Amino acid sequence: VALDLVQDGVVASAAPLQGTLLRKQVSLKAEIHSEGTLSKAEIDEILQMASDPGLLVPLEVKHWSRQQLELYVLSGGVLRPKGCSLPDERLLANATMTQEQIVSALAQASEWITSADALLIGSGAGMGVDSGLGTFRGGHKGVWDGLEAVGLAYEDICQPKWFQEEAGEPRLAWGFWNHCHVAYQESRPHDGYSTLRRLGQRCPLGFFSFTSNIDSHWIASGMSPERVLEVHGAVRWLQCSKPCCPDVWKAPNDLGLAEDGESHRVTGLLPLCPKCQAVARPNVQMFGSDGDFSRARRASQNARYDAWLKRMSERPDRESLRLVVLEVGCGLTVPTVRKEMEKVLQIFPQARLVRVNPENPGLAPELVNRGVSLPLPAQMTISQLSQQVANAETSEKQATFILWGSEGGVELRAPKGTSVGRLLRLAELEGMSVQFSQETQAVIIQPMSNRCETVSIDQTVPLSFFQELKDAEGSDLQATAVLRVAAKFSSSHQSNLNSVLRRRQEQVGELLDEMNQLFGEPGYQRSVRACEDKRGVIKEAKKVQFQVLPKYGIEANDKGLALMATWIATVQHLGDLQAKVDRSMDISFFMHMGKLPNVKASTRLPYSADKPPVVMQDQPPASKVEEEQQPAAKVEQEQKPASKAAKASKEIQPPALRPLTVALSRLSTLEDAQPERLLVECSSGTKVSELRLKVAEICDLDARSARQAKLLFRMRSAQGGQPGFVTAQEGEAVAAEMFITNIDRWPEQSKG
Ligand SMILES: [Zn+2]
Repeated sequence: VALDLVQDGVVASAAPLQGTLLRKQVSLKAEIHSEGTLSKAEIDEILQMASDPGLLVPLEVKHWSRQQLELYVLSGGVLRPKGCSLPDERLLANATMTQEQIVSALAQASEWITSADALLIGSGAGMGVDSGLGTFRGGHKGVWDGLEAVGLAYEDICQPKWFQEEAGEPRLAWGFWNHCHVAYQESRPHDGYSTLRRLGQRCPLGFFSFTSNIDSHWIASGMSPERVLEVHGAVRWLQCSKPCCPDVWKAPNDLGLAEDGESHRVTGLLPLCPKCQAVARPNVQMFGSDGDFSRARRASQNARYDAWLKRMSERPDRESLRLVVLEVGCGLTVPTVRKEMEKVLQIFPQARLVRVNPENPGLAPELVNRGVSLPLPAQMTISQLSQQVANAETSEKQATFILWGSEGGVELRAPKGTSVGRLLRLAELEGMSVQFSQETQAVIIQPMSNRCETVSIDQTVPLSFFQELKDAEGSDLQATAVLRVAAKFSSSHQSNLNSVLRRRQEQVGELLDEMNQLFGEPGYQRSVRACEDKRGVIKEAKKVQFQVLPKYGIEANDKGLALMATWIATVQHLGDLQAKVDRSMDISFFMHMGKLPNVKASTRLPYSADKPPVVMQDQPPASKVEEEQQPAAKVEQEQKPASKAAKASKEIQPPALRPLTVALSRLSTLEDAQPERLLVECSSGTKVSELRLKVAEICDLDARSARQAKLLFRMRSAQGGQPGFVTAQEGEAVAAEMFITNIDRWPEQSKG
């Protein structure tokens, strides 16, 4: 005999050990005046046939015919009535993913979040599962066991009509809502909430949490209420059930209600509207087009959310903004959050979607290029993402960026692959106001060199432009890129510089003052004036420089001098620093040693005496070459990061030419032969073809031999392996170190 107990209104007792295994349900049943064709009991009965216990049915299921629902259930959701509100997951991408795909999706999502300009977090019930809260549907469903007892579905109890004093059943309604209230109070938001807040705080344009959850957990987790939109309201807030007014007030922690275990109705004094004494209800948007829901509280949240989006959408760089939309645990049945997230993606063409959902990870085909799916639980996924973002921000991947506008400037740290647009937005995060547009360009410059490259706002700094430069203070060296941007920077500080850059300026000023004081002392002046050649002057100056450098974290050697020069060059155009550099050049005697021979006559080689531009040497030490190029380890006026001319015209100009001594080594095919080296005076703009002519003249080559000689650059391998050579093209600019081969004549070195 098959007993259909459910059909007879009998359910298993919640406490079978107390003796009553089965109890009649009839007396507990709530009256439902549902306008649908299928009752809750009929729907449940048909759903029992589903092979997948997590099979979702749409909200409109009660309007389906019995046959439609049976087909839907037996086909596992494949055969569905027309206009079914649930998306057909077979049409979505990423509905099933391999382990490898998930790992690469995690990496992609982390990369997006690392370089996000703004973060929009959309969350649904799946976000709360790891805090111990049930979801209304899907694998973690189970909100209130009273639902089963009174024969109501979640969307049945979650209706405003139950609060009506005659037609409804306020004590039953509060049985459900008090249960939710207690559950939300007792559970603590898991740490994924605060992790996401931190990920949001690192975005230059901020973050917002858009949630359909009514548990107030975002605010409880410490997120500012200014950044939360609870689109379905919150149980924590009450309103009049009539409603007599739009007022919303906060519920006490304990409502003082007790739920009867049998009837699931509450006893105790129901919360009342302070104005009209009608029963109060949670300020939650319920099912059945809840016209009674007071929108007062949500409207102010909504206004802040809209303002945030509007500020971003009105920016001139809207099209390049990297907004990351992180959607966590949002179901398909009530797609409020999903719809909103997809709408925002339409506003920002560079926005990206990260969908975290272990049950419904599918992406619409048109979103595949802009989104990834992570079919994993919320808390674990957030922790993974945050770890990968932290890894990307470790120091070796970070660089220092110094950005100069037409006015002002900013120094900041960011990963090397940061786009110019994001750098400018990070400058805004530094309190700088930056005027720029989608068309704004930047010129990347290298202090002490003539290399530069123009990049657009969406591009990043090529790796070859990062230089090891000294920090604003201390001895640390950082990969540094210097950019001139066609934008105006302004801040509340009159210098229009951020604090790090001001500190750099101060430190450089102090170093120059200290050096100038020592250069000015009579002892130095006496000895430097007694020098008979440049080498002597440089030697005297180094005594002073090496005394001062260590105080600024710079080593007292030739490498330290080069470091000092670039350190000064980064800020040399600021304030009175150029005047201090000029004074240094003057009193150190560098400015006046032009007429002195490089090396005193008695020690010079006869060969170089009759050909002044060329100095013949056998293997000069590397530091000697540096000295020849940068006699004072100082920079000339025209190399300042933003010269006065560039400033006046407000245009970006490449740095001017400067003298450059090319150390040209002759390569021999004999392995043990010592390379011979010529120093050829050129300028930074000299072409390889011009160098060839100079070499032909020096070596007295005929036209054919001159053409056959092969000029080479050194090519450094990135992995630090064996260096190689690369042929210098005729149109390229010369470099300080070059090589020549296939040349049969070479000036003979005199012995003497
Ligand atoms: Zn009222």
